[in-house]
Amino acid sequence: MSFVNISNVVKSFGTNTVVKGFDLAVEKGEFVSFLGPSGCGKTTVLRMIVGFETPSSGSITIGGKDVTNVAPNKRNIGMVFQAYALFPNMSVFDNIAFGLKISGMTKQAVSVRVEEMLKLIGLTHLASRFPYEMSGGQQQRVALARALAPKPDVLLLDEPLSALDAKIRVSLREEIREIQKKLGITTVFVTHDQEEALTISDRIVVMNGGRADQIGTPNQIYNKPATRFVAGFVGTLN
Ligand code: ATP
Repeated sequence: MSFVNISNVVKSFGTNTVVKGFDLAVEKGEFVSFLGPSGCGKTTVLRMIVGFETPSSGSITIGGKDVTNVAPNKRNIGMVFQAYALFPNMSVFDNIAFGLKISGMTKQAVSVRVEEMLKLIGLTHLASRFPYEMSGGQQQRVALARALAPKPDVLLLDEPLSALDAKIRVSLREEIREIQKKLGITTVFVTHDQEEALTISDRIVVMNGGRADQIGTPNQIYNKPATRFVAGFVGTLN
C-alpha cells in the first residue's frame, strides 16, 4: 500500500460533477504534481486530501488510515496556498509559532522548532519582521516554514508560486524541492504551469475535465504523452 491512496474519488457540487473517478497512489517521500488547465479539478482533489471537501464517493487513505471523513485538523497535513495567507498582525516568528503553540508545546520547544524552521528557509535574520515588510517570495517561504513546523505527514502546495514574478518563481521552486528532499516529506503540488511541473516533480498527474489523463514521470509525460490533450498541454504537439 502506498502512503497516500486516492481511490475512485468522485466530487459533485449540485448537479455539476467536477471530479469524475480519480485514482492516485503517492509513495512516501514522493513529490507529485497535479498539472492541468483552470477548472479541471486540481484544487478540488487537493481540498479533499486535506479534508476541506468530502468526496461524494470513493475513499482516501493516508499512512494506511482511512481519512475520507476525518476532520482536516486530525489529518496532520501542512498546506501552502497561492496567496500568502500569513497572519498580517504577527511577526514571522509568531506566524511560524502559532500552530505549535495551540498544539500545546512548551514555550521553549516552540522557540527551538521555530529557529530550526527559520534556518531551513534562510530567514533567521527576519524573525521579527511583519508580513507587509517582506517580499512575496519571502512571505511564501514563511508560509512554507509555518506549514512544515508541526512535522506534517503530507505537504500540499496549491499554486504557491503563481503570484510571484518569474525570476523568484524559479529560485523558490528549486528551494522548495531541496527542502522537500531534505525532509523526505510526501508532497502534492498543484500548478497549471507545465515547465514548473516538468522540472520539480518525481511524477506528474495531467488532469483533464475531472480525470487523470496520464500519470507518469516528467520524462514519460513529455516524451510519451498518452493523449492528444496531454501532448497539447505539455507542449509537444504543435
Ligand atoms: P484553477 O487552476 O482555476 O484553480 P482547478 O483545476 O483547481 O482550477 P477547481 O478549483 O478544482 O479547478 O474547480 C473545478 C470545478 O469545480 C470548477 O468548475 C469550479 O467552478 C467548481 N467548483 C469548485 N469548488 C466549488 C464549490 N465549492 N461549489 C461549486 N462549484 C465548485
